[in-house]
Amino acid sequence: MSKRIVVKIGSSSVTRADGGVDHDVLASVAADVAHLRQRGTGVIVVTSGAITAGWAEVGKGAKRPHDARVLQAVSAVGQPLLMDAWRSAFAVHGVSVGQVLLAPLDFSHRGQYLHARGTIEALETLGVVPIINENDAVADEEIRFGDNDRLAALVANLIGASDLVLLTDTAGLLTADPRLDPDASLIEEVHAIDSELEAVAGVSGSAVGSGGMASKLAAARIATWSGVRTVIAAAREKTPLVSAMDENVVFGTTFLPRAERLSARKAWIAFAVASRGRLEVNAGAARALSHDGRSLLRVGVESHAGVFVEGDAVDIVSNGVVLAKGLVRSSAERFDDGDEVAVHRDDLVLFAE
Ligand code: GLU
Repeated sequence: MSKRIVVKIGSSSVTRADGGVDHDVLASVAADVAHLRQRGTGVIVVTSGAITAGWAEVGKGAKRPHDARVLQAVSAVGQPLLMDAWRSAFAVHGVSVGQVLLAPLDFSHRGQYLHARGTIEALETLGVVPIINENDAVADEEIRFGDNDRLAALVANLIGASDLVLLTDTAGLLTADPRLDPDASLIEEVHAIDSELEAVAGVSGSAVGSGGMASKLAAARIATWSGVRTVIAAAREKTPLVSAMDENVVFGTTFLPRAERLSARKAWIAFAVASRGRLEVNAGAARALSHDGRSLLRVGVESHAGVFVEGDAVDIVSNGVVLAKGLVRSSAERFDDGDEVAVHRDDLVLFAE
């Protein structure tokens, strides 16, 4: 298949106000996916809504609890309901679906990361639409993705997608919070995600789902750095996915991919692996990294913090700003008499635009 896209549907779109699965939304997304597949585009679905649907089933109308353990258990009730609904929505088009539940560790260990990719690709070869969610029932609160926007961006990176579509309950990224400012208007196209835009997105979203605009913007950053065009658009529109993929219509907010696509491995270092520590570097080293594309030498590191071992990811910081991220060559314990090269340039990603 020529093009491959990831579409993520948020909890507030997958479910109705009463928490039950919104079969109409699933039907329109499934119809769009079937249509795109016929045109030769591969589609991977990331779905939220397990917790919301699960609570609608077992909560009997009571207010949603906050206790993480209870919510995890509730997701175990909702996930099969969700999959059943997706299965029915796709069955209309004669398409089978397969469930893949991912946890952050699947992205941290490179071997596991490649393995997850293999499974998704094998499903596609079988003609099956992969439907992905976070493994909410067992993922520890500390190590969760927390929101499916980030998960969807990492999946887009994992499979080398061309496009990521985040379907939600707003028209896209707006210039202000429409609940506070009636003049809020849609931002149609974004060329670079800067601090000004992050301030616009600072406002959070709806009562269900954990995303909000800030997390969508963070996801768009991961995706665009990975060379993936990203669209944030309304789920409850006619043909939402087909419209988001049509570059000739204005639908939602489109984030253009960076021209310089990070290699899959570098994108993995930049966004998938958690940092275990930080290296504060001096001005000379910062310059050598930023302008000359050099490796970071141990002499350029003024101090280090965190408990890391050889091969762990660390943030490289200059004057309080995270300049780069990379895989460190020595453990924190043995740093001062470790490798002369602290982080090799092949293992390093610069964050400056
Ligand atoms: N994985 C969660 C669920 O299915 C949703 C996370 C999110 O809101 O992004 O309920």
